[in-house]
This record gives sequence, C-alpha cells and structure tokens, in this order.
Amino acid sequence: MMLAYMDRAAAAAEPEDAGEPAAEAAGCAAATDFGGLVSAMPAAVVRPASAEDVASAIRAAARTAGLTVAARGNGHSVAGQATAEGGLVLDMRALALSRRPQMQLVGCPVAGGPCFADVPGGALWEEVLHWGVKSHGLAPASWTDYLRLTVGGTLSNGGVSGQSFRYGPQVSNVAELEVVTGDGECRVCSPSSHPDLFFAVLGGLGQFGVITRARIPLRRAPAQVRWARAVYASFAEYAADAEWLVTRAPDAAFDYVEGFAFVNSDDPVNGWPSVPIPGGARFDPALLPAGAGPVLYCLEVALYRYPDDEDKAAAVSRMMAPLKHVRGLEFAADVGYVDFLSRVNRVEEEARRNGSWDAPHPWLNLFVSVRDIADFDRAVIKGMLADGIDGPMLVYPMLKSKWDPNTSVALPEGEIFYLVALLRFCRGGGPAVGELVAQNGEILRECRANGYDHKAYFPSYRGEAEWARHFGAARWRRFVERKARYDPLAILAPGQKIFPRAPASVAVQL
Ligand SMILES: Cc1cc2nc3c(=O)[nH]c(=O)nc-3n(C[C@H](O)[C@H](O)[C@H](O)COP(=O)(O)OP(=O)(O)OC[C@H]3O[C@@H](n4cnc5c(N)ncnc54)[C@H](O)[C@@H]3O)c2cc1C
Repeated sequence: MMLAYMDRAAAAAEPEDAGEPAAEAAGCAAATDFGGLVSAMPAAVVRPASAEDVASAIRAAARTAGLTVAARGNGHSVAGQATAEGGLVLDMRALALSRRPQMQLVGCPVAGGPCFADVPGGALWEEVLHWGVKSHGLAPASWTDYLRLTVGGTLSNGGVSGQSFRYGPQVSNVAELEVVTGDGECRVCSPSSHPDLFFAVLGGLGQFGVITRARIPLRRAPAQVRWARAVYASFAEYAADAEWLVTRAPDAAFDYVEGFAFVNSDDPVNGWPSVPIPGGARFDPALLPAGAGPVLYCLEVALYRYPDDEDKAAAVSRMMAPLKHVRGLEFAADVGYVDFLSRVNRVEEEARRNGSWDAPHPWLNLFVSVRDIADFDRAVIKGMLADGIDGPMLVYPMLKSKWDPNTSVALPEGEIFYLVALLRFCRGGGPAVGELVAQNGEILRECRANGYDHKAYFPSYRGEAEWARHFGAARWRRFVERKARYDPLAILAPGQKIFPRAPASVAVQL
C-alpha cells in the first residue's frame, strides 16, 4: 500500500491541512538533487512500502499518457538523474524505512560459509555497514567513499572506491536482485536466473527496473585499518607506484588504494593541509624537492587488521618501502574499520557548517585509460586545474577485469583505467557556478579532441547520438534492446534523458 501519493494539482485544490506542506516539501526536494543545477518538479512523490507499491505506481504510469517514474535513492546525483518532470518520483528511502526488519542475514550455513545481506534498494550503505558489523561482525567487501548513498542508486551506476581494484566495484558484489521492471512485473534475478535482466540493471542508470531488494555477499569485518598516505612531486612516479600496487597478487596487496592531486601551496582546502590524516603528523613543505611543480599527488592506502591479527604498522611500512614518494612526507594512523569507512562524514559536517554542502556541486567524474592518463594530467590537472577546485581531485587506478562486461556500465578499453573525480565544493567568493560547468564541458571536449580513451562516470548527455557515442555501437545496441525488453514504454528514469516516453498510442494494458 502507498504511504503517500500527492498530486500537485490535487494539493493545490485542497485546504491547508497539516499534511500538505510536508508533501509539497517532499515534491520540492524531489525536484532537484545534490548537484543543485537542475530543477524538474514531479507531479507526485510516492512513498512505496513494498515492491507491490512500486509495481502499482509503474502500472499506473503505463496507463497514463506521458507519465514517467523515477526511483530516487538519496538524491545524490548531480545532473537531475533521479528527477521526473511532471512524473512520479518513488522515494526509495520510504521503502527501506518501512521494511521490518530492514536487513536480513541469508546463508551462513556453517562458520566461514557464504553469507549474504538482503537489503532494500533504498537502504543507505551506512545502514548496511552498521547493521552488518554490530549485529554479525560481517560487512560487504566493496564500498563507496561516502556511505550516505543508497544501495539501488550506486548499483545503478557502478559504486567505486579504493577497494574496487581488489574486490571489484559494487556492481561486481551482488548475488541477486529483486527488480520491478517497466512493465510493472516484479522479478528476482541473479547471474543464473534471468541473467540478462540482472546484468542490465547493474550500471543500468535506472533504465530497466527499480531495484527493490539486493542480496550482497558479506565477509568477516576487519576490526581496524592501518591507513597511510604518501606524497609525490612527480605524476609519473605516482602513477607507476599506484599501478604497481593495484596489480600485486592478493597476498601482497593492500585492501584499499586511492589517491588525489592537490595544490603545492598552504591553501587550507586545496593545498598541503588537505593531506595529513586526522590526528597525524603535519605536512612539512621544506621536505619537497626543489623542482616540485604547482600540483602534487598523494597516494592513499589501507591494510585491514582482523581481530586475531598482529599490528599492521610494520607490514604497511614494509609494503611502502619500495615506493618512490617524497621521504618524510608520509602519514599513517590506526583507525577503527567503521570510522575508516565513515571518514567522509567529517567532510560533510564541515561542508554543512560552511554552507558548501547545500551550494551547487558542478562535479565531473571520468574513467580515463592508463594509455592517456599522463596526457590528461598534463592538459587538465596541471593545465586547467592547477589552482585546485575547492574540493578533492581524486585520481587513482582500477582494473577492468574486476568488472563483468555483461553489466550496462561503459568503461574505457584498457585493463588499467583511472577514476578522475573532480568534486568541486563552491565556497563564497569562488568562480561562478556557470564558469565551473563550462570548464567541465571544456574538459570533456579536451578528452574528445585528443582522442583520450575515456568514459564519463555518472554520464549526463542529451539525445540519442551522445548516448550512442558514450556506449559505443555494440553496447548501445544491447542497451536499446534491453530497454525495449524491460521498459517498452520508456517510463523509467526520465531524468537520464536517454529515451523519450513512448506516446499513449503505443501504450499496452498492464
Ligand atoms: C558526497 C558524495 C560522495 C560520493 N562518493 C562516491 C564514491 O565514492 N563512489 C561512487 O561510485 N559514487 C560516489 N558518489 C556518487 C553516487 O554513487 C551517485 O550519486 C549515485 O547516484 C548514488 O546516489 P543515490 O543513492 O542518492 O541515488 P540517486 O541520485 O537518487 O539516483 C541515481 C540514479 O539511480 C536511479 N535509482 C536510484 N535508486 C534506484 C533503485 N532502487 N532502482 C533503480 N534505479 C534507482 C535513479 O533513478 C537515478 O537515475 C558520491 C556522491 C556524493 C554526493
């Protein structure tokens, strides 16, 4: 049964009672997202309490000319991907919060046997973490940096972090999905049952179905993490070390490898102060080599420590010994596993305090092949962005072989590719948002003009030709076929602007 269904026209006609302002507020929140650059008012926000509610909303849309449906996770997209102008927005958090118990442990027949979590599509990864660790001492292997994102939202994109090189992205860490497709049918799919639907939905940008439940494999949760950073003055040395680390055999590998570019200055947001691990040593710029340029690089690694393990400090020092970073500019600390995974919450708190959390976020995320990353660094990071972007510039490698080619995600050609995440936070007095959006466009044009092997992550394109170029001919053909199979009226995820809603004359009775 639907908990709330508020049509704007109906709301306007009704007297002002206690429920109305809340529903209007929900409509407004659903009209935009974390990016704050797009506004698309829905006709109604639906709060489903079950997969059947999701199916009812989709069937209602199928019967109504022009009506579309967008699942909204936590609205952390940056280009309106979870909006539905004049359509229905499904508040997937409502589905997660109404389910009791919210998560369920599945499997674990014998100690050490396979274990899974059955979680609602609208659960936050943070909720999965706390439930898994506190209740069972278990946790998923693959994370995002920030955990206040929903399971359905990241599985519709990819879900990457420093664990991806070793454990695969989140789309490689799913055993089963419950999905309501665009024809209003609820199906359970997995690599062995309805595999085409399963892989279509993973990285499928919400185009093929609404994920109402996901079964996530669990492993023993580490107790602690040895977390370390090391500074480089040369991109070539940084990249060589990062690539060496992500291609090491599992018994010699870190559990987490990331890294970022930063400005060679004392700027509190863009420069040296952004490097030290909280509570650790301070950055001594006197240790930088004389010829260091305007942009520096910081490798970030972590090694898990399980309850019976000995201290990992010595192991991490040993593993970092062959690296070519600037001696003396390394930072390390032991932190709890949950604290480590929750580290971006501190960034959120500070951004909320200084107002930049609620300001627009003209972010750009790219995957750039190893073949072209040095040129990209020269032209874009050291070229256009040498003064920083008032936020992290993540640049770290991962491996294509950890991604299943059957999913809908589009990746560069090379086995090693870098995530480049330009996570701009707008501070008062900085460049106008329009200029930053224009600069993102310029970066994309630079990639195309130079023929860089790259793909947008969280792509935002307008029109079929751009989407076809994004996917490449064969993958685009498969994407279109899957759309026709699972959402023939193009009801779902209209905010991605890939397929126009089919006209009423094509409507089928569902
Ligand atoms: C501060 C911050 C940090 C981030 N860090 C990372 C990171 O480290 N790694 C990373 O990979 N990403 C990261 N992201 C990006 C994040 O993965 C995307 O924003 C993603 O869209 C998830 O956000 P969401 O759950 O709010 O989904 P939404 O933005 O609400 O939705 C995203 C898309 O998925 C669809 N969708 C949502 N739920 C469902 C569902 N249940 N079924 C089907 N389709 C659905 C929507 O219709 C929409 O098209 C970060 C974002 C922010 C704001």
